[in-house]
Amino acid sequence: LAEAEMLGITIPEEYGGLGLGHVARLIALEEIGRISSAVAMMLQVFHLGIDPIITAGSEEQKQRYLPGLAKGEKLATVAVTEATGGSDPSGIRTEYAKTDGGYLLNGRKVFITNSHLADTVVVLAKSADDPKCFSAFIVEEGMEGFKRGREENKVGMKGCNTGELSFNQCFVPQENLLGQEGKGMRVVLGAIGEVGRAGMVGCALGIHAACLEESVKFANERILYGNPISKLQTIQNEIALMFMDLDASRLLGYRAAAMKDRGERCDLQFAIAKYYSTEAAIRAAKTAVDIHGGYGVMTEYPVQRYYRDAIVLGPSAGTSYIMKVIMARAALF
Ligand SMILES: Cc1cc2nc3c(=O)[nH]c(=O)nc-3n(C[C@H](O)[C@H](O)[C@H](O)COP(=O)(O)OP(=O)(O)OC[C@H]3O[C@@H](n4cnc5c(N)ncnc54)[C@H](O)[C@@H]3O)c2cc1C
Repeated sequence: LAEAEMLGITIPEEYGGLGLGHVARLIALEEIGRISSAVAMMLQVFHLGIDPIITAGSEEQKQRYLPGLAKGEKLATVAVTEATGGSDPSGIRTEYAKTDGGYLLNGRKVFITNSHLADTVVVLAKSADDPKCFSAFIVEEGMEGFKRGREENKVGMKGCNTGELSFNQCFVPQENLLGQEGKGMRVVLGAIGEVGRAGMVGCALGIHAACLEESVKFANERILYGNPISKLQTIQNEIALMFMDLDASRLLGYRAAAMKDRGERCDLQFAIAKYYSTEAAIRAAKTAVDIHGGYGVMTEYPVQRYYRDAIVLGPSAGTSYIMKVIMARAALF
């Protein structure tokens, strides 16, 4: 991925990236996700981990981290979720306390993509003195008290590492505070809302495109009643819906990504695209399994993997219910 310059796709050219932006990123993620959504997921969260440094990092932090991240010498992630705070990030318990020259972090993060690969981790923590004050820190591999915990065993996207991180009196120097103290929630939620959800759209498009491709192939090859099943109107109707949904998902994703590239606010548009594209990919995967008949549940055929991969799209970067909360708020108030 680094050789293909995929890691630096959103990093500005002056920091060693391609500076191609978010529409380009979406297209790249779909193409990678068509073959392996696990790899697309891993890549999308590398980008997500880089984004807070691009948007909130000081000039010194950008110079220090971005060139290495663009080349893949370093890998990034974002660590927000905890056992006590996923949809409600204010429920997190990881705390920081000021000390000489920096901060001491204590706590445990769960469900972190690239947990065992990333060496540059943007961590959200709550002030020990003020539970309403959240700050973001760049924690690096090798910092004392920073450890990887257990790895999760997901039903799908098995090639992508997800796991726990722990901080035990972990000393983070002052220069690794990301943005202003007390503004961390805005920094990380901004990245998740616009870059994390965009990435999930890319993964969803990849799975959806693969489902369509495999379904068309199978429908043209499988002979029943003396003809390929693609001649059956029921199969045609299902393929038509899959085809239409993929188009709609792409257009919603491209709209939001183009707004992001123009510097416009686009969190609502990404919530719409995330909801639509991930739910559509799950429908497409179910349809692909159905079209394959009994072969659909056999491991020799890839569609069962697409189905397992597709359901992982749901909770990542915010659940479908949370996307509905965002859309309802925009529609009603
Ligand atoms: C594969 C994978 C990768 C992930 N990668 C990362 C990562 O890299 N970094 C990171 O920080 N996190 C990561 N996450 C965590 C992810 O962001 C959370 O799982 C997600 O936000 C949901 O939180 P939760 O699992 O605690 O569920 P909960 O928040 O406990 O939700 C439980 C249920 O309640 C519903 N719910 C909650 N609040 C509301 C509401 N207001 N209205 C209606 N329904 C509601 C939810 O939709 C859900 O159905 C990852 C998760 C997965 C599955």
